[in-house]
Amino acid sequence: MKFNWGKRKPHCHIRGPFCHREAETRDRAIDELLEFIWNLRENGVSNLADLQSEASDPEARDILSYMEQEGLFAQEGDKVYLKEKGEEKAREIIRRHRLTERLLMEIFELSEEEAEKEACKLEHILSPEVTDSVCTFLGHPPVCPHGKPIPPGKCCTAPEKSVKPLVMPLNDLDPGGEGRIVFISSNFPARLDKLSALGVVPGSIIKVRQKKPSPIIQVGETTVAVDPEIVHDIYVKAV
Ligand SMILES: [Zn+2]
Ligand SMILES: [Zn+2]
Repeated sequence: MKFNWGKRKPHCHIRGPFCHREAETRDRAIDELLEFIWNLRENGVSNLADLQSEASDPEARDILSYMEQEGLFAQEGDKVYLKEKGEEKAREIIRRHRLTERLLMEIFELSEEEAEKEACKLEHILSPEVTDSVCTFLGHPPVCPHGKPIPPGKCCTAPEKSVKPLVMPLNDLDPGGEGRIVFISSNFPARLDKLSALGVVPGSIIKVRQKKPSPIIQVGETTVAVDPEIVHDIYVKAV
């Protein structure tokens, strides 16, 4: 199956419906298009013309009309929106894709390009149970490495006891506990700049000196009091 990628950078923010040229099956193509519609929506795009010009491949157009018949999405005027069935399916795919990005880039340290390629494969095959295990293992991260929201799963509200998280928010460490920073999920660039100036960057060892009344952290020789929200944004692996 061929697909016109256009000039867009192929990562989770927005990309063509087909991760892989060899995306063979219709089911997989449907997944890709649902994911694509979701990504477009996050970027504020919901008109049919844009969707169709992205999906300029004749086969993709066929699949789009099949999806419409199946009740996955609908059109209203020149707008496209996901129907309940499509919304749910898209949400799961996006969740698998973005969790896999976190796993591959931050735990397995693959390059962004490699991680993207693998995430595109895994998003079609991970079972809901494995997806929730990955989520738990990563400490239920709220966003992907690109800062895009990861739709929460069942595991995020009802923690599963059988999987021990490998990665957790710094806040989950007891006072005196130490961890290696795996990622920082803050969406506030100013906050990130301030943290990195202190050496609070992925790979650093961070220690919780005190949690109450306000958190005090230590990185290297630096001890600093931080905003209480920050300890929820820093994800660590216990050392
Ligand atoms: Zn991403
Ligand atoms: Zn979760």
